[in-house]
Amino acid sequence: MRLRLLVGLSAIAIVGNSIAGGSSYSLQGRPAGTDLTEEGLQVDAAAQATQLATAAPITFEMSVATTVTPPETPRQLNAAPAPSSAAAPPASLNLAPLGMFITNAEPLPPCGYADVPAQLSSQKQWALTMMDTTYALTAAYAPTDLVPASNAGIRSREPVRSFVIPDLKRMAQAAAAAGAPISIASGYRSFHNQSVTFRHWVNVQGRAAALISSARPGHSEHQLGTAMDFKARGGTDPWNLKDWGKQTAAGVWLGVNAWKYGFIMSYPRGMTAKSCYEYEPWHFRYVGVAEAAAVHSSGLVLRQWLWEHQPNPEVPSP
Ligand SMILES: [Zn+2]
Repeated sequence: MRLRLLVGLSAIAIVGNSIAGGSSYSLQGRPAGTDLTEEGLQVDAAAQATQLATAAPITFEMSVATTVTPPETPRQLNAAPAPSSAAAPPASLNLAPLGMFITNAEPLPPCGYADVPAQLSSQKQWALTMMDTTYALTAAYAPTDLVPASNAGIRSREPVRSFVIPDLKRMAQAAAAAGAPISIASGYRSFHNQSVTFRHWVNVQGRAAALISSARPGHSEHQLGTAMDFKARGGTDPWNLKDWGKQTAAGVWLGVNAWKYGFIMSYPRGMTAKSCYEYEPWHFRYVGVAEAAAVHSSGLVLRQWLWEHQPNPEVPSP
């Protein structure tokens, strides 16, 4: 395996402001990767924490990168253009929370169904954690700095990690100024809530159908606290429309502009074989402005780009 050590970025300053203390949020029960009708699930944050602590963890064998060679050809990260409509947040908030980018030369594996531990899966590594139908977070992964999206001036109390707020706020302001105001239908989703949701869809559809439309517990990017399903402000949930990305001003605007604010559409149209999920024009994951610019300019689906930056991925045997 060939590894290349790439650009160094400074560590992020993570803001406090935890939601701990029993605040109750409406965690939407919609699984990732589906156009199915949503069922809202009321989950008490304190109860969630208890369930997270007591849930049986997935048993994994972790592979650890041991060798890294110096750079051969450093990849240039293009700085994102600063939006002119709002003041830029502190530079530290725009940087991936990593000391380095590392690339691997393993080919992108096909989408399978397994439970392999995501590499780079500490909470500080949120920008590079690769999750799909194979790679997952454990039940113990629960961000401790969740805040309601309303902190970004958005009419939603869906939880997101606190450091997302400045860029989310700038994006919401720019979208509104462009006549495409946005809101959030679904933010953080706990491991426990994913379990409940997946069981629900297995009961409704059967396991085979649920597998291709719903994230199994630990496999949803929503568990990171940095992925969110957007909707038009005052509009219906986006999966109720045939193509929210084309039928709403908010969807069109986000599709063109979200990357400038650090958000990448995880599951673009026609890329299911590489993204592992069907087209979801509403699902964006925050990776920070610099990394989003790099992903955007690479032309790669986010899963591909992240795969290239996993230090030593364990590839499950077919
Ligand atoms: Zn989503």
